[in-house]
Amino acid sequence: MNPASRDFDVLIVGSGLAGLSAALHLAPNHRVAVLTKRAMSDGSSGWAQGGIAAVMGEDDSFASHVDDTLVAGAGLSDLAATRFVVEHAPESIAWLRQMGVPFSQEAGHLHLTREGGHSARRIVHVTDATGAAVQQTLIDRVHRTPNITVFERHTLVDLITSRKIGLPGSAQPGVAGRCLGLYALDEATDEVFTFRAPQTVLATGGAGKVYLYTTNPDTATGDGIAAAWRAGCRVTNMEFIQFHPTCLYHPNVKSFLISEAVRGEGGRLLLPVSAGGTRFMPQHDPRAELAPRDVVARAIDFEMKKHGVDCVYLDISHQPAAFVREHFPNIYARCLDLGIDITRQPIPVVPAAHYTCGGVHTDLSGRTDLEGLHAIGETAYTGLHGANRLASNSLVECMVFARAAAQDIRSAPLPAPPALPAWDESRVTDADEAVVISHNWDELRRFMWDYVGIVRTNKRLERAAHRIRLLQEEIQEFYRNFHVTRDLLELRNLVTVADLIVRSAQGRHESRGLHFSRDYPEMDPDSKPTTLVP
Ligand SMILES: Cc1cc2nc3c(=O)[nH]c(=O)nc-3n(C[C@H](O)[C@H](O)[C@H](O)COP(=O)(O)OP(=O)(O)OC[C@H]3O[C@@H](n4cnc5c(N)ncnc54)[C@H](O)[C@@H]3O)c2cc1C
Repeated sequence: MNPASRDFDVLIVGSGLAGLSAALHLAPNHRVAVLTKRAMSDGSSGWAQGGIAAVMGEDDSFASHVDDTLVAGAGLSDLAATRFVVEHAPESIAWLRQMGVPFSQEAGHLHLTREGGHSARRIVHVTDATGAAVQQTLIDRVHRTPNITVFERHTLVDLITSRKIGLPGSAQPGVAGRCLGLYALDEATDEVFTFRAPQTVLATGGAGKVYLYTTNPDTATGDGIAAAWRAGCRVTNMEFIQFHPTCLYHPNVKSFLISEAVRGEGGRLLLPVSAGGTRFMPQHDPRAELAPRDVVARAIDFEMKKHGVDCVYLDISHQPAAFVREHFPNIYARCLDLGIDITRQPIPVVPAAHYTCGGVHTDLSGRTDLEGLHAIGETAYTGLHGANRLASNSLVECMVFARAAAQDIRSAPLPAPPALPAWDESRVTDADEAVVISHNWDELRRFMWDYVGIVRTNKRLERAAHRIRLLQEEIQEFYRNFHVTRDLLELRNLVTVADLIVRSAQGRHESRGLHFSRDYPEMDPDSKPTTLVP
């Protein structure tokens, strides 16, 4: 490909709901490139089951959705950002309908479900596979939009900034500079190419893969957060990682959620037989299995650590078999495939990292600290989620900020960037020790799980920080001396994100929302978001 054909008006990294929405909003007036590191459909968006929160019913109000979000956010949500998302949510739903998303209907109206933490029915959905339907609809649209060029299997290596290439004025203290484009690794040719554009949008999703157990897809390695941080952007609230209490624990299956509805319908959490086989939730909370997500996740974590066991069990077998099959057809079928008949046997489960509340610090237009760079979707911190995310509030955040960023980009001049240097590979060789990378991946994810998971202590955080320092040195050496691979790039980003999580957690001397420290079990009344400055 001729280098000039990698010149665009806007580069969008990521093909989830955030990235594709932004691309479609921009395409009428701009030449847009969407880069995505695997296939277009890979990412969290396609996996979302529940739906999208928006005030659509007559018995609901913006004030109520705002209040519910603020309650979930445990005092740390930003009021302006929360209002902004809530008030723009209905128009996002209207836009998705215009795009052709076949939302579930009842009697000629959108069917709305209700989820934990919402005080009204306000979840717009496509049966129990909302994300897949939305993602596919947008992919089809993008394929039919001539102004959008998609680069699949292209992994962002790094952003190119005016400061990095030494443009005059960009090295002044306090000036983050301007984003001019990026380097991306093309898997097909195994080459790193330069993409150039006056505007870049990061829409790379969350960072669940930094933990051993996660509900997230393999793409969730925090690449955008790490790249923005390296480019000089602030990052906020990285200590707030939401853990889902019950993910299937099975050697051959990654990331299969066991819905909270199983507990809602009477499922009981049990210790493994080797640890007594008893029910443990009543000792942790009077609401037992029906306690909120974070309470159940903490209780499971406590029992697993106390007994040194790999998982606990969720048992619904006391309900009639027909009831179980009818209420949980997918879970029943999936578990049966694996040899677990949930009408007769308990399901092995572990809590798993589910959502990254923090991210690249942005304003109400999705702008970051770097001119020419926006961040949207799970990779961004907008202030909406505070210390905990309300269910179904993330897809809507993707859409509202995709539109806001597109509007902001449309209103900005598009100065042609200068010529950019090609990727320099003159000093690197092929690594002959891929095992080091896979070993470091495993080590990082395990110690993050053990030391920086659901329950934290000063000592555990310090242990994690120490290991991160060692890994960073080793990975940096690899990065400098060897040809880059996707695994290496992801590991480099994961270790950066791990560092940001640990530093943020170390700075929070209280327990609030998703951050629980045994050394600081109380809430601090003067608590603020944690912002790290590069
Ligand atoms: C199992 C599950 C269920 C969920 N259910 C719901 C729900 O019901 N409602 C709700 O509101 N939220 C839900 N969420 C959360 C929600 O799905 C995500 O927050 C949201 O989809 C994030 O969208 P995104 O566009 O920011 O990122 P993603 O959809 O994750 O897309 C990120 C994109 O960036 C690409 N990418 C990443 N790094 C690079 C790189 N270096 N170079 C190039 N491309 C890159 C990826 O390949 C991918 O295309 C759920 C999440 C999970 C995992």
